Amino acid sequence: MASNPGSNELKTEIVVLGGGPGGYTAAFRAADLGTQVVLIERYPVLGGVCLNVGCIPSKALLHMAQVIHEAEEFGQHGIGFGKPKIDLDKVRAWKASVTKSLNDGLAGLVKQRKITLVQGFGKFTSANTITVESEQGTTTTIHFDQAIIAAGSHPTKIPSFPYDDPRLMDSTDALELKQIPKKLLIVGGGIIGLEMATVYHALGSEISVVELMDQIIPGCDKDLITPLFRRIKKQYKNIWLETKVTSIQAETKGLKVSFDRASSQLASGIHTIPGDKGKGAPESELFDTVLVAVGRKPNGKIIAAEQAGVKVDEQGFIAVDKQQRTNINHIFAIGDIVGNPMLAHKATHEGKVAAEVAAGLKAGFDALTIPSVAYTDPEVAWMGLTEDQAKQQGIDYEKAAFPWAASGRSLSIGRKEGITKIICEKSSGRILGAGMVGTNAGELIAEAVLALEMGADAEDIGLTIHPHPTLSETLGFAAEMISGTITDIYIKKS
Ligand code: NAD
Repeated sequence: MASNPGSNELKTEIVVLGGGPGGYTAAFRAADLGTQVVLIERYPVLGGVCLNVGCIPSKALLHMAQVIHEAEEFGQHGIGFGKPKIDLDKVRAWKASVTKSLNDGLAGLVKQRKITLVQGFGKFTSANTITVESEQGTTTTIHFDQAIIAAGSHPTKIPSFPYDDPRLMDSTDALELKQIPKKLLIVGGGIIGLEMATVYHALGSEISVVELMDQIIPGCDKDLITPLFRRIKKQYKNIWLETKVTSIQAETKGLKVSFDRASSQLASGIHTIPGDKGKGAPESELFDTVLVAVGRKPNGKIIAAEQAGVKVDEQGFIAVDKQQRTNINHIFAIGDIVGNPMLAHKATHEGKVAAEVAAGLKAGFDALTIPSVAYTDPEVAWMGLTEDQAKQQGIDYEKAAFPWAASGRSLSIGRKEGITKIICEKSSGRILGAGMVGTNAGELIAEAVLALEMGADAEDIGLTIHPHPTLSETLGFAAEMISGTITDIYIKKS
């Protein structure tokens, strides 16, 4: 153990606990508003899960997967490449270089804004103090006027699984790319599970996915998931739906995974596509490696929030109002720790609100929607109300789904499975929700988000000139289908 070189005391107007996208955004905004800021981060670099072991490294690897797939698939259109030669050390180095340039950028922004960065694990010791213990044994006590908690979340663990076995991975381990397993099982058909499936499939692993619910990416409309499901069903060895993993046992030859097919009355394995009754999971099977991606848990219980009087619920979430205030007036909370969806772009938005309110501005979190994107191949993106939600809420809506098979741009890139769907209020035509599945859907959804925020109706979107030929046109076409002005496809008048 390192000897304790001493303890420090700091005093600040605002302390931000956690240097992920929410935390550093809050710190930067607070500093820009003229407040004195201390930012606490437990790791040596800023950026949190998203930049270091989440969104950014996964996107670098997903781009690699896209290059591999596109090169392979263009063989049928006359451009043949050899089998890819994979140098894992170089791939890892490239991924690390992407995160490093952003880490360095953040370190520069901290300096430019004259923010005091304290490295170590911070815990509340009272309603106005946080104590930070560094790995070197230094203790820093920070006295603050106001605090913003941005301490994030961690991967959910299933207690009976053998986590000390290196063949059992969470998303952080999976991104390390230590090796390419021959036979990989992914537990959880959510966004993380399917993004990592895309990466490891491109690298040559045989993929099986097991999902508890009756569709992959639960929460998104089924018609948007179907094109993704159809494609990965051909690529992967198995996709078992409505199936639970009951145990994982470490054996010499691999991890023995037992499945429960009877966990639901409907359990029949694969049937996301209506009429598709694929085979169900076996009782047990041996895998080289298993990735568990069954969600994330908030870090509310590890920061001693109770010492400050901040209420943390059973799961570890901290409740906040629209101004991001906790039950303690001068303590704010943002990001994964305040609730779902656990997305970086929600956290950054909340971070700005908290910093502005703390600085005395009239701000509040009033975004109409937080878009979701699965960076799979094809990508799936959605925002606003899903069709399922519109039905559940008894809303009188109209919908249109434009097939990308009629998009010249989509066909030109060798893909035709995409769909752009729009949901509008029947009486006014006002956009309520939209979703896309297809190449770059994650980029395209931003226009629909803007349309929703601006209160646009289908006519506004349809009369907006979209450049041709682009995938962005598909939102305009879907809107024209609602307005009845579409000419790119033929819709029989009823
Ligand atoms: P998730 O909640 O999105 O998906 C987990 C899936 O696991 C669900 O489909 C769930 O039904 C299933 N599941 C749960 N228990 C299971 C079990 N015992 N057996 C089989 N399946 C089981 O969680 P995630 O994919 O781990 O992602 C965590 C968080 O991170 C989410 O909030 C997600 O939105 C966020 N994230 C977002 C992105 C992105 O925006 N592209 C990328 C990665 C993660």
